[in-house]
This record gives sequence, structure tokens and C-alpha cells, in this order.
Amino acid sequence: MEADVAVVGGGAAGLVAAARAAEAAAREGRAARVVVLEAAREPGRKILVSGGGRCNVLPARDARERFVSASPRRLVDRFLDRFPLAHQRSLFEGLLGGALREEAETAKLFPPSNRARDVRLALVGWVAAAGARVVPSSPVRDLRVAAGGGSFELRLDGDLVRARRVVLSTGGLSVLPAGADAGGYGWAERMGHRVRPLYPALVPLTAASPSHAALAGVSLPARVVATSGEERAAASGGFLFTHRGYSGPAALDVSHVVARAVEAGRPIRVTVSFGGSGEEWDEGLRTGSGTAGSHLRRRLPDRLAELLLREARVPDGAPLHRLAREARRRLVEAVTALELTVTGTEGYRTAEVTGGGVALEEVDPGSGESRLVPGLFLAGEVLDAFGPIGGFNFQWAWATGSTAGAGAARSLTRGTAIP
Ligand SMILES: Cc1cc2nc3c(=O)[nH]c(=O)nc-3n(C[C@H](O)[C@H](O)[C@H](O)COP(=O)(O)OP(=O)(O)OC[C@H]3O[C@@H](n4cnc5c(N)ncnc54)[C@H](O)[C@@H]3O)c2cc1C
Repeated sequence: MEADVAVVGGGAAGLVAAARAAEAAAREGRAARVVVLEAAREPGRKILVSGGGRCNVLPARDARERFVSASPRRLVDRFLDRFPLAHQRSLFEGLLGGALREEAETAKLFPPSNRARDVRLALVGWVAAAGARVVPSSPVRDLRVAAGGGSFELRLDGDLVRARRVVLSTGGLSVLPAGADAGGYGWAERMGHRVRPLYPALVPLTAASPSHAALAGVSLPARVVATSGEERAAASGGFLFTHRGYSGPAALDVSHVVARAVEAGRPIRVTVSFGGSGEEWDEGLRTGSGTAGSHLRRRLPDRLAELLLREARVPDGAPLHRLAREARRRLVEAVTALELTVTGTEGYRTAEVTGGGVALEEVDPGSGESRLVPGLFLAGEVLDAFGPIGGFNFQWAWATGSTAGAGAARSLTRGTAIP
């Protein structure tokens, strides 16, 4: 098979890249042969399972400062600026035929139907309408620059594809669909790229605390802070006690600090605070009526209130007006800086994304093209950046996919026919 543009990986970034590449070529009056080689039986598997089956397509507001990357920060901005959030929103409202639904308390945007499958359907439809072709069940086993340069050879099981341009969008190592291997990291490295160390991110934390595990199922808003050496992350949002440890957006959003610390064998400190500042809790306990237990239970789930009282060694029935200053201090500390005995993360099995990846300095943010391998374009999670929970990772995938697809199509005018 021969292609002008071979997109390797038909996930979020790859589907947008393929549609953009085919559209851009057509606009210039050329029909480009754009193929998407997808390992799984169907493209966009992760879109289907995203957002609990609803697909949090985008965030309602930019928060680029919350992206995590070991590459220079300004580059994250430059990749995102290339396809601004407002334009992405218009694209999806056009594709989905209606305004995206905003979930007010989380500022997440969902499709009008609230169904992830409609997002995938719209993207696959766009790819087909643009004239690109998706070839499912086609895991790419190897990718190399063809002898003499100027084009690429992609080895599939029993097939060889020659392509003038390649968009590498094989995604991350987490929740891999059957047949997929996220091979892009290895090929990019072999072609000379620096791949910054990979780690699971946006992943539940594991713990060794039977008393906390006993609270499995308790969920509430919280603020979590993880610190390890120089690294620190803090996040507010939903927090959930699980049988294995902790989950919910606030825990997931700091999990990269834990994953990296565990990898490096560094100590970690993770604390959680519930509802209000230390001063507010202190004031409430000083001036409130009733017992310590009733005061906490009015503000927190019962089982959590009981755990915090035990941690602070304050009797449930202790009258507030007789609570000693030291007991009050212990209780405030338990509520606003409860230590979590975190042992690690659940790993790639449940991680939403993979941290690390191809160094952004080695990719042109204006076109998505590799600065080391002409004709190679990179998009999505294979690049060294990820965002927090809230639609930011699709924002990254749509932005970098769009740039790489259009960049690959534009570059076709540079010539270099398949020998
Ligand atoms: C459970 C879950 C829920 C999520 N929910 C959200 C959400 O609501 N909002 C949000 O913004 N983000 C969410 N994410 C993150 C988001 O799905 C990813 O950040 C995004 O899909 C990354 O896009 P990508 O195209 O780089 O990778 P992917 O979408 O993973 O696509 C990569 C594609 O490459 C294919 N592939 C891999 N190896 C090969 C190979 N060797 N040959 C051919 N094909 C290959 C894969 O099969 C896959 O289709 C979620 C992730 C998970 C796991």
C-alpha cells in the first residue's frame, strides 16, 4: 500500500489529524491519499470510554498553567495556541450539531447528547467526508525512514505501507486497546528523539491504611497536596476513599508527583483537607455548640467524621465548650491536613494518561513536524505533556492532531515522491 500521509493510531489526535490532512490537501486542489492505520478493531476506543461514557470533550475554560511537562512551558502554550479552545469548541459544536453542555460545578463540556459514542461517530464521519480512510485491525509493528530518506516504511503483519509523511499518534501506555502497543515512543527514540521518562498519570493512589480503606465509597470535595523533594502538586475537587486507596479528580490530579517519586525511590507526603481553612475550623470548634462528634458530622460524612476524631484522639462526645486548645489543634490538623499513607499508584491499568514522552523542543509547534526527522509529525499523548482532569487531554489531542495533520498536508508540496 502507498500513502501520501499515514496516520499511525486512530485515536483522538489521529482522527483529527487525518481529517485535517485530507481537508488541507483538498483545499490546495490536491487529493492526498490519507490513511489511518489503527491497531484496534475500531478507531477511537478511548473516546468511547472517556468521561464515564459521556466524553468530556473539552474544558469550558483554558487552564494551560495546569499542564504538566518536563519540556519548556512556553512550548505547551505554543502547541495549544495553534488551535485555540474557542475554535475547538466551534469545531465540535459543528460536528455534533449543537451546543456543548457545560457542567457548571466542574466547567467540563460534554456533547449535546451526553453520549461519547456520538463524539466518535462525528469524528469518524468527518474523516470519511474529508476523504481519508481508516484501516482498523492494522497494528503497525515497525516504522523507519526508507533507504535514501524522503519517505517512510511501515511494517504491518504481512504488509508494508510506504508513506511520504507519517503522523505518529499512537497515544500512551494506559488502558491500551487489544492489539495496540503505543509503539510511537520506541520508534521516535530510535529515530533520534529524546523520550522523557514515562509514568502513569491521572491515576488512583494506592495506600496501606486499613482504617482509611474502611471508608471505601465515601466521597466529598477536598483539596489534596502531594510533595516529594522539589516536586509539589495541589488540586481541589472530588475525592473518594477506595478499598485500595484514594481516587476522584483531586487525587488523580496530583498522582504524577506520586508516580515519579515512587519511580525514583523518593519519599512522598500526601495530605488532604476537607471543607474550609484551618482558621474557619478553629473558629467553628471554639464557638460552636454540642459535641466534637456532632459538629464534625454536620459538615462531613459520618464515617469520615468518626475517623478524624480517632486520628485526633478526641472523644466523639467531647463537649465543644470544654475542648482543650491542644485537642482542638489536633482536630483542626486532622481535618485540614490528614496524612494519607500513600504507597504508589494503580499504574497504567487505570491511568487516564501517560506522563513524559517526546521532548517538545524537538517538534515544531507550528506544524507538528519533527525537527530531527523531516516528514515525521507527532501528535497527542506521545508528546511530553498532559493536562488535568476536565477535558484538557482531549484539548491537547485535538490541538496537536489538527496541527500535525495540516502540517503534514502542507509539507507534501515539498515533493519527495515515493521512490
Ligand atoms: C478511561 C479514560 C477516560 C478518559 N476520559 C477523558 C475525558 O473525559 N476527557 C479528556 O480530555 N481525556 C480523557 N481521557 C484521556 C484521553 O482519552 C487521552 O488523553 C486521549 O485519548 C489521547 O489521545 P491520543 O490520540 O494521543 O491517544 P489515543 O486516543 O489513545 O489513541 C491512540 C491510538 O493509537 C492506536 N495504536 C497504539 N499503538 C498502535 C500501533 N502500534 N499501530 C497502530 N495503532 C496503534 C490505539 O489503538 C489508539 O486508537 C481518558 C482516558 C481514559 C483511559
